[in-house]
Amino acid sequence: MNKEEIFGFKVCSTTYEEITKNIFKDFEAKEQLFIVNINPEIVMKNYKNPEMKQIFNKQKYQIPDGIGILLAAKLKRKYIKERITGIDLMNCICKQSGEYNAKIFIYGAKPGIAERAKKELENIYPKIQIVGTSNGYVEEVRAYEEIKKSKADIVFVATGSPKQENFIIKYKEKLPEAKIFMGVGGSLDVISKNIKRAPKWIIQLNLEWLYRLLQEPKRFFRQLKLIKFLWIALWNKEEKNEKN
Ligand code: UDP
Repeated sequence: MNKEEIFGFKVCSTTYEEITKNIFKDFEAKEQLFIVNINPEIVMKNYKNPEMKQIFNKQKYQIPDGIGILLAAKLKRKYIKERITGIDLMNCICKQSGEYNAKIFIYGAKPGIAERAKKELENIYPKIQIVGTSNGYVEEVRAYEEIKKSKADIVFVATGSPKQENFIIKYKEKLPEAKIFMGVGGSLDVISKNIKRAPKWIIQLNLEWLYRLLQEPKRFFRQLKLIKFLWIALWNKEEKNEKN
């Protein structure tokens, strides 16, 4: 699978079909995966953090989640096939999981949300096996114990960044039976219908960020980082940081 580098962060140039197929090929080979989401916010938080960058880069899959990544790639004349969002890839994995008898654990969001997301996913994908849920505000070690007990093969962690990445990094080796780990941010809020995702035409116009901003105005300061990100991409300032 082709990869490009944005601000020193590797991102896959792939399609949903190709990456899902590859993920389940690895699943059959019993390889443990940490699927990393690369979006402008994560890059801005971590591009001066060589340790995190190295952890992200050594994983097999880094998805270009966020239109800012595609824009930055274009500015750098790099080619990324398409945007792969965390929530859409999560749906692809949920859909395929039934074919592989893979058991899923969902961890994150406010009390009750993961449970509602479970019901919604079971309605959409009748073959899915969700063997456990936990809200995202319990002590992390409790969530770890629940996951261990559930014997899940796939773990979706939806506690926001960097909490979800740190959790996966800290616990994945202690959970060798789980093969797929992925941070999925606010996805459970959307799947449970707690928050409405933008209509398709807004997503296609690449304006999902604006829709989310209008729904959650407190995101304004977070989204300012996107402007800074594009500014750096435009003025080519990242190379010296890539070497860090
Ligand atoms: N969250 C959580 N535990 C925490 C902090 C946050 O489970 O300690 C949840 C929060 O309820 C929300 C998600 O993490 O469902 C974060 O969503 P956000 O919109 O920040 O994620 P993004 O998709 O932007 O990464």
